Amino acid sequence: MPTEVKTTCPYCGVGCGVLATPKPDGSATISGDPDHPANFGRLCSKGSALGETLSLEERQLYPMISGKRVSWDAALDEVAGRLGVVIEQNGPDAVALYGSGQLLTEDYYVANKLMKGFIGTANIDTNSRLCMASSVAGHKRGFGSDTVPGAYEDLELADMIVLVGSNLAWCHPVLYQRILAAKEKRPDMRIVVIDPRATNAAQTADLHLPIAADGDVALFSGLYAHLANAGAFDMRFVAEHTRGMEVARDAAEDWTIGRVAEATGLARSDVALFFDLFTQTEKVVTIYSQGVNQSTSGVDKVNAILNCHLATGRIGREGMGPFSITGQPNAMGGREVGGLANMLAAHMDFDKADTVSRFWNAPNIAVKPGLKAVELFGAIAARRIKAVWIMATNPVVSLPDADAARRALKNCGTVIVSDMFATTDTARCADIFLPAAGWGEKSGTVTNSERRISRQRSFLPLPGEARPDWWIICQVAKRMGFSGFDYASPAEIFAEHCELSGFENNGSRDFDISALVDRDYEALEPVQWPVLRSGAGQKRLFGKGGFFSVDGKARIVALNPPPPRTLPPGQLLLNTGRVRDHWHTMTRTGKTPRLSAHYAEPFVEIHPDDAERLSIRRTQLVRLENAFGSAIVRALVTDRQQKGSAFVPMHWTGETAPTGRVNALIPPYTDPISGQPALKMGCATLSPVD
Ligand code: SF4
Repeated sequence: MPTEVKTTCPYCGVGCGVLATPKPDGSATISGDPDHPANFGRLCSKGSALGETLSLEERQLYPMISGKRVSWDAALDEVAGRLGVVIEQNGPDAVALYGSGQLLTEDYYVANKLMKGFIGTANIDTNSRLCMASSVAGHKRGFGSDTVPGAYEDLELADMIVLVGSNLAWCHPVLYQRILAAKEKRPDMRIVVIDPRATNAAQTADLHLPIAADGDVALFSGLYAHLANAGAFDMRFVAEHTRGMEVARDAAEDWTIGRVAEATGLARSDVALFFDLFTQTEKVVTIYSQGVNQSTSGVDKVNAILNCHLATGRIGREGMGPFSITGQPNAMGGREVGGLANMLAAHMDFDKADTVSRFWNAPNIAVKPGLKAVELFGAIAARRIKAVWIMATNPVVSLPDADAARRALKNCGTVIVSDMFATTDTARCADIFLPAAGWGEKSGTVTNSERRISRQRSFLPLPGEARPDWWIICQVAKRMGFSGFDYASPAEIFAEHCELSGFENNGSRDFDISALVDRDYEALEPVQWPVLRSGAGQKRLFGKGGFFSVDGKARIVALNPPPPRTLPPGQLLLNTGRVRDHWHTMTRTGKTPRLSAHYAEPFVEIHPDDAERLSIRRTQLVRLENAFGSAIVRALVTDRQQKGSAFVPMHWTGETAPTGRVNALIPPYTDPISGQPALKMGCATLSPVD
């Protein structure tokens, strides 16, 4: 029996280091890795329960075609054959791959190489589109590259933390613990929470701004104007390292405190207090997450935040900077290998298609962006895409208009699903099911929200016939007649990934880990990219400029806040999100009663006044309904929720409506730049069921 193994938590984007010691019964003893710089030994409830989620109950341990057991050879031949026929008859854009921020970087790398380099389509997107695509687009528009400038250490060094659309206390608990520990040592440190809900993070904040939904661009435009009027801009940084300051100032100048208060529903005094605190505190870190990203104005929200940091020069220095915190364990790794439909590998855009093609010796490189997640499922529904391969994700639950996603898959010519479980809502739509290895069984790397690459290491044997995703993808690629997929291990894939990051990179690209190419993969210590020739990671970027745009300057973006949302009569605004102890669609966290004890069933939070008006009693079952779908959930009546709005967690699933599958009610609206769905912008009627 192996001894203690150092690995990384498979859940959120904090990327905590974990020590795992397998036990004879197939479970494992789990503790936080005291040496890992993300968590220094801490784990949250989900991470510490990992050992209880490793049973093989419900695991699908052999390949299936049309629900019948087949050999791996038969399954792989069938996948390669069907993809080949569709491509031959309809062209490469008639096939698609939909991946996941749960995939390891090595899995993602070969999936992207197969699709964009060899099949010749960029129709590969991922559930990370639902998570942080707006941050990617905002970073690229502001910095010229998808770069997170700071490090977790900055959260402890800041004098003020601003959390925007982020319930860090529940969704990234270890980071929140680090902030609270810093505040305990320095009680003057302030925490400001900007969120429509009085979340757990809001309840421990010094100032909570219960902002109206999508009021963020107005708020940060007002802050930008306030900083300009107060003379708080760092004019030297602005002149040397940015462009667009004046145009953005002109666009923001009408956003007075009074107008901001009106547009955001906030008290004037609260807006004024926040603006003064931000102006007077140099060391500010602004953390943002899904409340910012999952919106039709998500990219503008990101740039509204970046603008304030760029204009004041509060970026890339100790204790200051804007900070996107990703939801998933490897959303960042996916970005690095080009897992999104609108980018190539190693943070290259399609204007670098020749570079990637030369490196891969790829015969058929994709030269234009593919379809983003919502468009991609629309193309499946319209039968323009005739074969789709879904890996490690459950879009029938997680996509907006989730019933439409299910209908699209049911009517698709070929649906291939690689997963640990054949019982998910999506796997039930599969023609071909491929059993994938899970956490603890496979090896690779992940990148967390501070750009830190860490190893995930296996400590359990592969169960049944389950295989790692990278192996499955490479087997299919070889059967399709493609060379360049003869990897013996994830270490070989990682080395190639490192090499590509430095290939024809003269310092114009931010992502460069070529110094790791010869590093002992098994012994790889957590390291932040970009990695210097010495092998050292870089903690912060942009403190002295050096942006990855053509002129080396950051762009301060002129913004136009969206008008306030109006709802159809009789409907409540519908917001979705996570609870503390569950992960995504609960295939793993649902296995331990300890985690389900926090919330055992789907629920809706509504304000007491709305409950009274709608004759809804506490804990009564209620039906949520709109033109897209319906759900039945338990009513939790609480003044944590604003009047006129409702919150439903996104974890619960179900085969037949109505269930707690809340994304069935969310319209498929997306940000026009990033394509990220506005998962917090639904509306629905509520009525008592009994
Ligand atoms: Fe895992 Fe995130 Fe919890 Fe850390 S904070 S233990 S990465 S779920």
